[in-house]
Formats: sequence, C-alpha cells, structure tokens
Amino acid sequence: MTELLFRDNAYLKTATARVLAVHENGIELDRTVFYPAGGGQTGDSGALVRANGERIAIGDTRKGSTPESVLHIPLTGMPRPEIGETLELEIDWARRYSLMRLHTALHVMSCVVVAPVTGGNIAPDKARLDFDIDMSRLAVATIEGETNALIARGVETETVWITDEELDARPELVKTMSVQPPRGTGRVRLLRIPGIDLQPCGGTHVANIGEIGAIRVVKIRSEGKRNKRVEIALAR
Ligand SMILES: [Zn+2]
Repeated sequence: MTELLFRDNAYLKTATARVLAVHENGIELDRTVFYPAGGGQTGDSGALVRANGERIAIGDTRKGSTPESVLHIPLTGMPRPEIGETLELEIDWARRYSLMRLHTALHVMSCVVVAPVTGGNIAPDKARLDFDIDMSRLAVATIEGETNALIARGVETETVWITDEELDARPELVKTMSVQPPRGTGRVRLLRIPGIDLQPCGGTHVANIGEIGAIRVVKIRSEGKRNKRVEIALAR
C-alpha cells in the first residue's frame, strides 16, 4: 500500500520514498506524489532520483492491482532501483499544474452545462466532458462566458470526506455516469467549490478556482446519441 501524498496536498512537487517492489510493469513506493491515471485524469510523469544522482525517468503513473497501490512506469531503457532503496521523487510540475487547472475547470463547467455526464478526460493541454444533452443546448459563447464568470469568483476549493452510506443517501451528488466514485475503503472523497459544485472526485485540484484563469471552448461535437462532447483549453 502506498501513502497517497497528493490526496492531502496536490501542490507537493517532491518527496522522499522507499522502494517497495519492482515489477515488470512499474515501481511501487511506500509513498508518492505521482497521481496515477484515474477519474479521467492523465497519470503524472517525472523522475525518481537515486542517491548517486542517477535519474529514472517516469513516463506514466497508473493504479496497481490493489486500490491504493501505484505503479511508476519508467521510460524504456531506464535503470531499475533496488527494493528498499530510498529515492527522491520529482513530478513534472508544469504538466501537473495544467492538469489541476483543467480538471478543476471541468468541475466548474459541469455546473454551467446541466446534464448527466457520460464521459470525460483531462490531458495536459486540453480537457473534455461528454454530456447526455441535445446539441441545440450547447453554445460556445454561453459555456465560455458562464464558466469564466464562475471562475472569476475566485473561491477556495475544499476536500470533504463522507461515508459510503452518506453517498448512497445522496445519489444526486454523482453526475458522472461513466466514472463511479472509488469505493471499498468505507469513505468517499468529495470536491466542494462553495456555491458552485459538490461531487465525488479523487483527482487533483487547484486550491482556488481563480488559478484556472480562464478557459476557452475548443470544440463542441456529437460523439453519439448520448455523448455530446465539449472540449476546453486554458485561455492563458
Ligand atoms: Zn475532480
């Protein structure tokens, strides 16, 4: 089991960790700042630095076979560390911060386009949500304008934990039909943007939505009867 440091502080760029296991498909550590791909958000990249300064470049991070295990996936040809070895972890912060800004922007946009969410993805340069909605209700200028007006409120985001039972009693909290909140540990993590949004989410978010700056809608297109896709990018 890996201590997920990003869950309590998404702004940690570095940490020291010990190697728990070295698998064919990745390295497991006792603690990590690397976010594993999940909930639509791309996994982190970065490096694991050995005591002698040798850098093990990490190209992707994914969930392991158990709920709180994380696989740090080295690029081809990278050296493998020893079990028990202590490493300095460094994430590609510029890339992660873009992911955090875009991810939080999707939370805000999901309150502008009010419809069931049927899919989503967050990459470093763009993010999208798919909605079960009629195309006629999606307009670039409206979505952009209303989302940016909410972002301009500059409110602080909050992490809230509730029990599985509390979530079961409030099914209206779950907007995403495609991504069910992670269960099995007895509690579920929610992101609250006071006055704007409250929904289960295990991803990394900015501390204040003002950090998003502004977004622009890159495109709106139909991906099927129940998938109308709105893709956004950071405006600056
Ligand atoms: Zn989120």
